[in-house]
Amino acid sequence: MPTVKELIIVDSVWEELIHDLRKRGDGERESGAFLLGKVGGNLISEYVCYDDLDPNCLDHGIITFDGSGYVPLWQLCKEKGLTVLADVHTHPGEWVGQSRSDSNHPMIAQSGHIAIILPEYAQVKNLTLTDAGVYEYKGDKKWKTIKPKGGRVRLSK
Ligand SMILES: [Zn+2]
Repeated sequence: MPTVKELIIVDSVWEELIHDLRKRGDGERESGAFLLGKVGGNLISEYVCYDDLDPNCLDHGIITFDGSGYVPLWQLCKEKGLTVLADVHTHPGEWVGQSRSDSNHPMIAQSGHIAIILPEYAQVKNLTLTDAGVYEYKGDKKWKTIKPKGGRVRLSK
């Protein structure tokens, strides 16, 4: 078993990401993104928004990401030598728990994958990871809740 590494998100990437999710959700629908980094690495260096891969995935208020959206995702990863380390999506209210759909349908069904959920369609000012729900996929539709404060996932200057 590989040792579990701390996942680090560069501050500037986080700021840009929040801005993008906010804009795309426009305060009235969920939005989300895949967080990318080097294969075998632990640093999130960039991200790609779900609706750039599947233009219709935000149309229903909740995210409905079509399987065909993985084709441009893996192509992008291949071109840049990156992989998906985590994903993030927004919820309407304060609740950052996983919905049944969130837990039953991981965006990347690979053990160790991290899913982050942000409240209030990411419209809150100065949103940090401590406001978020952070979950690690353990396989077989099981998840472990991560405390962002305790490490494992943190923001970096
Ligand atoms: Zn959700």
